[in-house]
This record gives sequence, structure tokens and C-alpha cells, in this order.
Amino acid sequence: MKPVIVVDLGGTNLRIARVVGNNVEHREIFSTPRGAESIVGLIAEQAMKLSAGTAVGVAVAAPGAVSRGLGGLSKAPNLPELDGYPMAEEIRRLSGLHCMVENDANAYAVGEVTYGAAIGYKSVVVITLGTGIGGGIVLEGRLWRGADGVAAEIGHVCIEENGRRCGCGASGCAEAYGSASSMLRLAKEYGSNATSAREAYELAKNGEQAALKAFKRAGTALGILISSLVNILNPQAVVIGGGGSAAYDLLEPYILEEMKLRTFPLAMRNLQLLRCKLKNYAALLGAAVLLEEQIST
Ligand SMILES: [Zn+2]
Repeated sequence: MKPVIVVDLGGTNLRIARVVGNNVEHREIFSTPRGAESIVGLIAEQAMKLSAGTAVGVAVAAPGAVSRGLGGLSKAPNLPELDGYPMAEEIRRLSGLHCMVENDANAYAVGEVTYGAAIGYKSVVVITLGTGIGGGIVLEGRLWRGADGVAAEIGHVCIEENGRRCGCGASGCAEAYGSASSMLRLAKEYGSNATSAREAYELAKNGEQAALKAFKRAGTALGILISSLVNILNPQAVVIGGGGSAAYDLLEPYILEEMKLRTFPLAMRNLQLLRCKLKNYAALLGAAVLLEEQIST
């Protein structure tokens, strides 16, 4: 099996790795440079170094809406310099390596389904709790990208008609309650002393009422969201991932409470609610799987 070069491109960090199957042979982390040329320049340079003439291509997991026609991001709120930029083509030109760009939450989902928490399940919804809420949907073993490649924007499902303002401009999105950032924001509003989501979790575990209330609110929001997804898709498993999944034990009871109220009993009966397993490796491994798949078809 030949190696694949994979990139997990974030607004803050850029992780690049050489992967064979589910084995991350080598991994490096850089601060994400500013400017489209600098970003693709760094990726191309490091990809050539890690490939040393052996890799089948480069897969970039990137935050935002991926346009397959463009081979890049049509909308990238965290990396606006990449809006409309033909990333795949530029990386190919600079490195001589085949390149594909995929939405990071989609890559994350494929990673968890292929090698992580949801091994053996064919229809799975993966939800990532970070700055926002991301998602990936795998149906009958295939990633569902939607007609325009922007499917599974799960965080922007409305759970409150006139609810809190979301970063997308709408109100009442699940993301405004259930992302890791929202957990912290809610805790502070309720009077917590937490300065990070991790701290809010620690305070809640130590019995701070404000923090506990925030995780209850977040868990309830996630439960409503997941119930809707289960009623539409009837998946075998739902995986909770991303940094916010560190609070899984606090969220789970509220998620299940809502699901019992809202989900069709038959869809609920065999459903597995799971916590992610691969953490920072999920998107890297999933991107490699998707590139192999693209090359073989
Ligand atoms: Zn929204």
C-alpha cells in the first residue's frame, strides 16, 4: 500500500501527515500561515518532503463549504483568504501530486466510521462539537455530500424558532447552544467563573450550578438536534466528536432524555449513541480514505 499525504487545515493550526492505511507514520504541526499562496505553498513543500516520491496524492481536510468543481472552498468563514481559491489545482501545480479537498467534518466522519467509534456500522451520523457544530453523514457506507457538497451542516438545524443568534446570521441554530464555545458562553451567562470550556467542565464536575446548567442546556439542544436527524435518517449510530465531546458524560443523560421524548421508538431501539475514538486523527485518517476512494473510482 502506498502512502497518502493528508492535511488537517484549521484556522489556527495546519497538521500534515504521511498515512498508510490507519497508520499515521509521520505527523507535523504548523501555525496556519496567512494568505492563500502561503498556505498552499507550505502544504506543497511539506507534501513533497513527506512523500519523497512515494505518495499517491494529497488530501486536504478544510473548514468550510467545499466546491468540487473548484477543488477548493466556496465559503470559508475561518480562512476567508481561501474563499473561491482553486486550492487543489495550485497544490498539484506546485508539488506535482494529485490533490483533493474535502470538508473537514466529512473527513472526520469517514475516519470515525472506518477506523474509530463506528466501525462495522454502515449508516452513521457524526457530530463534531468545537467552535461550531460540524457534521458528516455516512449512508450505506457512502459519505453523503448533497447536491452541492454542503450537506450535513448539522449545526444550523433550528431547535428554537426565536432562539439565540447564531454566527451564520439565523437564530435558534443548534450550534448556538451545543458547540463547545456555546457551552462556555452559556456557563458565563449563568454566572460561572469558567474561562474555557474545559474549565466549565471541571467546575460542573465539582458541582458549580451555573456550569451544570450550561451543560444541561447544551445536552438538551443536542438531544433535540439528534432526535430530528434520527427521525429523518434512521441511522445505526450517532457519534459525538470534537473537543466538546470531552464533556460527553455530562451531556449524554440530557441527550437521551430528549431522544426518548422525540425519537420514533423503532429508530431509537437499536441506535447506538457513541463517543468518538480517534480525536485529532479522525479527519487525517478519513481524508486518506476519501482520497484512496477517489483514485480507485
Ligand atoms: Zn446557524
